[in-house]
Amino acid sequence: MRTRPIITIDGPSGSGKTTVSRRLAERASLTMLDTGAMYRACALAAQRAGIPWSDGARLGRMCAELDLAFSGGGSDFDLRVTLSGEDVGEAIRTPGISLGASEVSVHKQVREAMVNLQRILGEGGGVVLEGRDTGTVVFPDADAKFFLDAVAAVRARRRYLEWVTGERKPFEEVLREVLQRDIQDSTRDNSPLRMAQGAVYIDTTTLSVDEVVERMLRHIPGGAKKATPT
Ligand code: C5P
Repeated sequence: MRTRPIITIDGPSGSGKTTVSRRLAERASLTMLDTGAMYRACALAAQRAGIPWSDGARLGRMCAELDLAFSGGGSDFDLRVTLSGEDVGEAIRTPGISLGASEVSVHKQVREAMVNLQRILGEGGGVVLEGRDTGTVVFPDADAKFFLDAVAAVRARRRYLEWVTGERKPFEEVLREVLQRDIQDSTRDNSPLRMAQGAVYIDTTTLSVDEVVERMLRHIPGGAKKATPT
């Protein structure tokens, strides 16, 4: 029996997972584990090493050696991804690396390495994991599982507004990439994006971050009492 819960949040790109997980972690005093950031870091490391995102075997070997970690940015819900100690939090948030993450994540060897690491990081409990397969594959026995979704145009708009680097693209292109990633993530052979059995489905299209978090807290053991009146 775990003393602290494991919470999983899955869903497509732009469904609000990262923002919601951060707020939920803050409200419920959990550590947030952004599993997408790990696939992004893998894509970035491959690009730097000159390894094609299509080469599963080489990527798998690279992942086995990868010094990938999360380090505290002052709080447990604001962790930064590091590669060999370098903070790559910003370098992994570009449209190019988004597609790269989606490409490297199709490979079994990459997924095995990442899932192993995620289990090691999360098994003690007190965590909220967010990604595509955290409730279906990484922790199917999690204490609460959620699946977030929103209409594609709203998801693309969120992505469009969030780019911090100089790579901003026209909205139509961002929408096309979001749709392309949806297809890639849900049709791949290894751990396709699916709603986990027993997961709570939340459509975030018209909900605020706090509204989503309030709904989630009702399903989390001991979570409701942490809710503050709104
Ligand atoms: O969530 P985020 O957009 O950062 O994820 C980047 C990519 O990493 C996704 O498009 C998906 O292909 C991959 N991913 C995955 N499994 C996860 C998390 C992310 O395959 N658990």
